Amino acid sequence: MKTFAELDLIPAVRRALADEKYEIPTPIQAQTVPAALLGKDVLGCAQTGTGKTAAFALPILNRLGQQDRKATPNRPLVLVLAPTRELAIQIGDSFATYGKHLALRHALVYGGVSQVNQVRALNRGAHILVATPGRLIDLMNQGYVELDQLEVFVLDEADRMLDMGFLPDLKRIIKELPNQRQSLFFSATMPPKITELSQSLLRKPVSVNVTPKQTSVERIEQQVFFVERTGKRALLQQVLSGSDVDRAIVFTKTKRGANMLAQKLLLGGVKAAAIHGNKSQGARQRALEAFRQKQVEVLVATDVAARGIDIDGVTHVINYDMPLEPESYVHRIGRTGRAGAEGMALSFCSADERGDLRAIENLIGQKVPLAPNQPKAEPPTAADATDRKPASQARGRRNSGPKRPTSTATEAQQTPNRNPAEVAGGGDTPKPRRRRKTQQRRQRTKQTT
Ligand code: AMP
Repeated sequence: MKTFAELDLIPAVRRALADEKYEIPTPIQAQTVPAALLGKDVLGCAQTGTGKTAAFALPILNRLGQQDRKATPNRPLVLVLAPTRELAIQIGDSFATYGKHLALRHALVYGGVSQVNQVRALNRGAHILVATPGRLIDLMNQGYVELDQLEVFVLDEADRMLDMGFLPDLKRIIKELPNQRQSLFFSATMPPKITELSQSLLRKPVSVNVTPKQTSVERIEQQVFFVERTGKRALLQQVLSGSDVDRAIVFTKTKRGANMLAQKLLLGGVKAAAIHGNKSQGARQRALEAFRQKQVEVLVATDVAARGIDIDGVTHVINYDMPLEPESYVHRIGRTGRAGAEGMALSFCSADERGDLRAIENLIGQKVPLAPNQPKAEPPTAADATDRKPASQARGRRNSGPKRPTSTATEAQQTPNRNPAEVAGGGDTPKPRRRRKTQQRRQRTKQTT
């Protein structure tokens, strides 16, 4: 399939595609939509940004549009499970967009907000239910959702669901699904547990892999800075002041880290907002909207909160903290370089994070090139230096690193408005162990002298 026109889609779906100016299907759509239209199960290995939402939404809308059935209270015909509220909302928006010329209703069910409106929508009847697993189980237990009429089941971002500990919830939901159904299964990665889960769910699926495990996103330029933890904030300020940085997502390990970093950036005059699981749904949506509208230039996020963020024009993804799981790296950097655009992914790697970097490099099957302007305080190890070429050399490209170079730890410490306590390690990240030990040793020596 080369164009959507070749598909036997109902006119209402065709019109919606024309409204969106979609003519050429993305690879995942080209490979899955024809099979899904025939009612086949699908196993798609693809991350966000590949067009996977339309890959499952279009065949579903086409099917429901042909049936022209009325929605029955509390008995959806389609269930889409997503790991996070943000992703659930985005999927709901996609159904609304692609289904705008159809008289179909969708309901959204996710935690962190009152269930009153969700129950009302379910009681009214919805053809399509988009849900996160925890709240869905709550509502199923209260008798607000029956899955006996379900025709299509979609599991989106299955790997993230497992990472988030949803497997027991998933199993309970899967038990309630009718045997006779179509299942569409999407995951950015395919670790053994996901393969096992997919095998238990799918029957003779059409398998499509648009992000092979060993590759990272091609059009995203990746660079690593070796930097001490205490130098990270100053380096970030420098990178962000580069004129090529338009919209950036900065990843931290912890929610607290995200809050503190956003606060410090704000104090430094950078329009920043934090987004993580402890923020209310409203606050997260407001932050995302402000980022979308460019009122906020920098979104400081944790992995979970950033899943499914679908905002075009993110020029930079910055791993302020290296991700603990290598798969998260692929998810993170996929926030940039969307819709065919180029993107830049910068990783700030401190001495204690070298192992995390190696795990990432093993997963993506390549060395992450060194950023051309390394902070001088912590040079790479001999092994790194021999294996790793500077980014500009590695890719044979013009140096597209941060426009304001010469990031050194010394300069970092001279940055105005910086509290000396932070430079000395009183910031949001723990001191490297080695240094703490040396300090303890010094303390002990002092006490004994
Ligand atoms: P997704 O992977 O579903 O998050 O989609 C990524 C982005 O691609 C979304 O902004 C979609 O609106 C857009 N998109 C999906 N399919 C197409 C298509 N065939 N042509 C152009 N844009 C698309």
